[in-house]
Amino acid sequence: VPPDSGGVLAKIESGEFTIADAIGALEDGTPLHLAHRWPVRTPRPIAERLTGARPFVTGQRVFDLFFPVLEGGNAAVPGGFGTGKTIIEQSLAKYAEADIVVYVGCGERGNEMTDVLTEFPTLVDPRTGRPVMDRAVLIVNTSNMPVAAREASIYMGVTVAEYFRDQGNRVALMIDSTSRWAEALREMAARMQEMPGEEGYPTYLASRLGQFFERAGSVRALGSPERNGAVTIIGAISPPGGDFSEPVTQAALRVAGAMWALDASLAHQRHFPAVDWDSSFSLYAAQVTPWFSEHGGPDWAAARAALLDLLQKERELRDIASLVGPEALEDRDHLIMEVAALVREGVLRQSAYDPNDAVCSPHKTHALASAALALLRAGEAALARGTPFADLDLAPARMALVSLRDAAEGDVETRAAEAGRAAAALAGSQPVVPARA
Ligand code: ADP
Ligand code: MG
Repeated sequence: VPPDSGGVLAKIESGEFTIADAIGALEDGTPLHLAHRWPVRTPRPIAERLTGARPFVTGQRVFDLFFPVLEGGNAAVPGGFGTGKTIIEQSLAKYAEADIVVYVGCGERGNEMTDVLTEFPTLVDPRTGRPVMDRAVLIVNTSNMPVAAREASIYMGVTVAEYFRDQGNRVALMIDSTSRWAEALREMAARMQEMPGEEGYPTYLASRLGQFFERAGSVRALGSPERNGAVTIIGAISPPGGDFSEPVTQAALRVAGAMWALDASLAHQRHFPAVDWDSSFSLYAAQVTPWFSEHGGPDWAAARAALLDLLQKERELRDIASLVGPEALEDRDHLIMEVAALVREGVLRQSAYDPNDAVCSPHKTHALASAALALLRAGEAALARGTPFADLDLAPARMALVSLRDAAEGDVETRAAEAGRAAAALAGSQPVVPARA
């Protein structure tokens, strides 16, 4: 029953129908079909907005641990060319926890879209064992198509997402790239001779983007039986030259609940996902902590804070070292820098191409975070007992952490135990040359 009609069912047919056939009618005579029309620029009506407490579990450690998104929330993913936006959108479409994924490929290169159309039908959802296409809707246009197709695809994508939400599904809407739609708005506004705003974008750019991102949400759907659903929106943004001060990135920043800022220098170092932990943010972190504490590990929030703090200290120490030279650093500083490097390598980096690493459960994310922190504490304990940093052998612990990262989900416990033993060995390290009494 379309959301704008309702009443008592007068009759219903059985048999086989096409979507054009009437399959029944309401008492007031409204015919019912297996499909209905909806103007895509208008949000579909709902009974009530809900405040969610469940995260949108991405299966990507840096997002789930550092910059989580609420189910029914939204995130903007700005990044220059080649920083990994498309790989992120596709990894989420493949592996994130959702009943339905709507993937909108908007105004990007045709060969990328061909990849999506040929690759997705070959993929299997690791959680359910069913083909990924069973839960996916692909809406695609390419850079050489008329720009009006971009506007159509964006609104069609969100309306299809709402349609499945209204049936009680948790829907994820992936957009690659929101900027191509904004460019289309600019082009259309110019043709209509509208007043141009910043950089030629129409003056209503920010409000359009805002209205669009606001179509994300957790809701109670209209009608009966009672159904709750959610739409989560993850929108990639392609700022020209990777300059985040441009209007589309800035407008998205103001409305998004989380921002995953991609950094070109991390991408150059092949650190993927190239998420800059300094400038990215999530306004949902506190809201989803209870869920992650239950499903990842009880000290989730403490581990998150400790790792973010460690990376922050590393940045400060690097600045000091580049100013006054590494000799100015104390043993404890060297340890922090060493372990921070391990955190980047073993926890934050995640290969989209490694079958064991492409998706990571909250449980494994927690195990990795805990292993890295155990290593830090073990190193501190060894230093406190008088072992100089130069005598600490971190190699076994590093290998244990990387082997935990590359473990299949079934091997997480045994590899985590090995990492624990490596940390314990490090904590017990003796000076190579015992200090003289
Ligand atoms: P963008 O869409 O931002 O232009 P892409 O998503 O196409 O960038 O990524 C560019 C390249 O970076 C990919 O072809 C791939 O080689 C590499 N890359 C990105 N993310 C990952 C990842 N998670 N793991 C491994 N390689 C990655
Ligand atoms: Mg891309």
